[in-house]
Amino acid sequence: MGKGVAASSLGALLESRGLNVRMVKCDPYINVDAGTMSPYQHGEVYVTDDGAETDLDLGNYARFTGSPLSRANSITTGQVYDAVIRKEREGRFLGRCVQVIPHITDEIKSRILAVAREDPDNDVVIVEIGGTVGDIESIPFLEAARQLIHELGRINALSVHLTLIPEVAGGELKTKPTQHSVKAMQEMGIQPDVLICRAPVVLDESTRRKIALFTNVESDAVFTSYDVDTTIYEIPIIFFNQKLDQVVLKKMGVESRHAKLNAWSAMMERFARRKGKVRIGIVGKYMELHDAYKSVYEALFHAGLECAVEVELVKIDSSRLEETENVETVLNGEEKIDGILVPGGFGQRGINGMVKAAAWARTNKVPYFGICLGMQIMVIDWGRNVLGWEDADSTEFNQDSKHPVISLLEEQVDVKNYGGTMRLGKSETVAEPGTRILAAYKEKNIWERHRHRYEFSNKYRTEMTGSGLKIAALTPDGSLVECVEWPDHPWGLGVQFHPEFKSKPTAASPLFRDFIAAARDQKK
Ligand code: GLN
Repeated sequence: MGKGVAASSLGALLESRGLNVRMVKCDPYINVDAGTMSPYQHGEVYVTDDGAETDLDLGNYARFTGSPLSRANSITTGQVYDAVIRKEREGRFLGRCVQVIPHITDEIKSRILAVAREDPDNDVVIVEIGGTVGDIESIPFLEAARQLIHELGRINALSVHLTLIPEVAGGELKTKPTQHSVKAMQEMGIQPDVLICRAPVVLDESTRRKIALFTNVESDAVFTSYDVDTTIYEIPIIFFNQKLDQVVLKKMGVESRHAKLNAWSAMMERFARRKGKVRIGIVGKYMELHDAYKSVYEALFHAGLECAVEVELVKIDSSRLEETENVETVLNGEEKIDGILVPGGFGQRGINGMVKAAAWARTNKVPYFGICLGMQIMVIDWGRNVLGWEDADSTEFNQDSKHPVISLLEEQVDVKNYGGTMRLGKSETVAEPGTRILAAYKEKNIWERHRHRYEFSNKYRTEMTGSGLKIAALTPDGSLVECVEWPDHPWGLGVQFHPEFKSKPTAASPLFRDFIAAARDQKK
């Protein structure tokens, strides 16, 4: 439906008026965090600086707003119950019966208020509640919201409800689902103040009046989030044109300066100025679900804006390459690929297809960008195809390899729990002189986020570099390899971290930018 984009766009608009905005996501699932979920279940896992493995909506917040994001900004049912049960075991409820109301709802409220109070300069917290009204799981969150609205007073708290206006055959717009969904909210004791209707086209005055009549929402507080054929990053401007920010601030009694949307309109100008296309092959294993590599796809789009070129995503299931004898026919003949990106991933399936794609890009001088697993794939390819070790592998995929060029971090060997135990979050990388990574960041100290267990095995450093593979960046103590680059190649680079998480439409990640520039120039 687009709740994440709607919440983020409102956040962007309030920030453009000089307000300090914080974003919070409530996820009704029982998992403590998104880290243990398959990307097929819930899309990508978004990693914050402090190493929280969160819902992908935090990625939207990061791309649209400047809200600092940490563990505190992602609240799940799992975390809430975990905290309440731990307190109960510690005897902190003093003999009382522990219940959903008030104990679970108190925990939810206190977590939201903690974000609000993190900084005395905070003006607004936008709390997005995942799921759909009527879901059993989201009831405690809606109940907490109801209490909070009541306790803070209507002027300090506002309820924005996103609803669907479908179009039926014959082009008629149906307001019925919206009426029902608002009724369901009212049954929960929450009267929406603002409606954002997701519709194929902008709603006319009479439709808005009809919705207003049925829902007790004023008709000038009914907005449309219509389908755009440009980019989701136009939505802040679309909401601004409908005066969403003005209505929200008026209802909350907040005074602010006029909106300054320069960065967003400049971005839309860059969007319109793009000329030509580059076809980027993303070789991974979760290709059917767009959300599985969400931040990577967004970062490619951002890079296209900066390189004035449209990035066409060509999603290639690595198993397809694994089965084929002739990678050249697929990547060059059928798909006409200008650059290859191998994103992060876990597990054995499709790995050999990724290695084939890397070998093809390396030998055919096609720009290649490896992220996390994608860097490990470069090292495996180098071991197998340059050094001639047929069984070169990561111990994640083959425990018996005689050439484990990628292996477990020492401290990971005895880890038994899967949740939150990887190398996670922000850490420092130091780029070597004369490297492409240094050229991209323009400074040698780089801070990016990690999410992995396995590492370039230091035992193979001498042989790898002796045969020409460039180790382009290390951790400050020199103990871990953070970046490798191919020699004599237009642009072949892999990083152990995830630069996609920090890319914004208004400021692309430097590595994505240079990768797309290389693909564009190569094509010329
Ligand atoms: N599976 C690899 C590891 O754990 C890569 C992880 C990733 O790509 N995020 O090291």
